Amino acid sequence: MQQMLSKDRSLGGPHGGQLVDRRLDVEEARGLASGGLASLVVTAAEAADLRALASGAYSPLVGFQGASEHASVLEAMRLPDGTLWPIPVCLGLPEGVAVDGRVALRDRRGALVGVLEVAEVFPRDRTGEAQLVYGTADPAHPGVARVLQAPARAVAGPVRAVVEPLGGPVGSRALTPAQTREVFAERGWATVVGFQTRNPVHRAHEYLMKCALEVTDGLLLHPLVGPTKDGDVAAEVRMAAYGAVLGYFPAGRVVLAALVAPMRYAGPREAVLHALVRKNHGCTHFIVGRDHAGVGGYYGPFDAQQLLASLPAEELGVVPLRFDNAFWCRGCGAMATAKTCPHPEAERLLLSGTQLRALLAAGRLPPPEFTRPEVAQLLIAAARS
Ligand SMILES: [Zn+2]
Repeated sequence: MQQMLSKDRSLGGPHGGQLVDRRLDVEEARGLASGGLASLVVTAAEAADLRALASGAYSPLVGFQGASEHASVLEAMRLPDGTLWPIPVCLGLPEGVAVDGRVALRDRRGALVGVLEVAEVFPRDRTGEAQLVYGTADPAHPGVARVLQAPARAVAGPVRAVVEPLGGPVGSRALTPAQTREVFAERGWATVVGFQTRNPVHRAHEYLMKCALEVTDGLLLHPLVGPTKDGDVAAEVRMAAYGAVLGYFPAGRVVLAALVAPMRYAGPREAVLHALVRKNHGCTHFIVGRDHAGVGGYYGPFDAQQLLASLPAEELGVVPLRFDNAFWCRGCGAMATAKTCPHPEAERLLLSGTQLRALLAAGRLPPPEFTRPEVAQLLIAAARS
């Protein structure tokens, strides 16, 4: 079932050397849906992981992980064969549900989203997972809460899943790793930098992307659109806002695609996962910002950058580009970071998330040096709808 699309281990090759493809086509899915298989209903986050597994975004994983993989990832940040892998990908098995053989995976509306070949059911050490992967077992952490609330047992095994077509305003942008690789090849890009985001793009992010684009052939603007936490801006609004920002880049040097995956807010370990997923999509470089994939005050501002820098380059296989926060500086008369600007904070245009939300809710444009007006208009319309 697994197609070996590439065995390239050089920079830009998929993680583990092989790009996984475990897609189900519509006909097969229809047959399985009516084939009398036992069903397991998956959560929205599990469905997003399932899609990432089947599309090859999580290569070399071919399914939900079992007990030995879970323990190995927690303790060593590696698969049992030694391959770097930072976060376990598990499927919860609710209490009282028995599974055996082949199981149809369905979303909450009952639609078939995939099929699992059951290899193993195991007790999932959720507290250990929280401590070792997230660095905390605090249930106030949104990623930890999802782990602690998961069933006590998980079911493991290879999967196949429906990847296309994906409906909605994001659907046409949800490219598989094979598809982004094809686009990069068509454009003749040897080096591609990936940018992960779950927020609208302001001037600060635009600046980081442009800094990276000065030294690479192309940019993959790759927002995550899976389940996030309450308060994050809706995916369709963000996609429109990214489209507006593209007007400030040469069209031939940027690809905008959406990554369907759950956000875990696991900070340093998730930064490694984000880098590997972009490697699978064909990126050679990856932007790692301040407090990357963090939430609240759980991680130090440069913990994620330090973890990525500590990993052997040939195992990571994608070059982390480490950035500090950017801002408009009146003294410099330019975008800058603490690395490049000598002026005091009073010279720097800084708005907190709370200040920005208050402006947008009141229908007022933030300064153009902070947010492009085209983007701000979309955010104002969304905030007031
Ligand atoms: Zn300055």
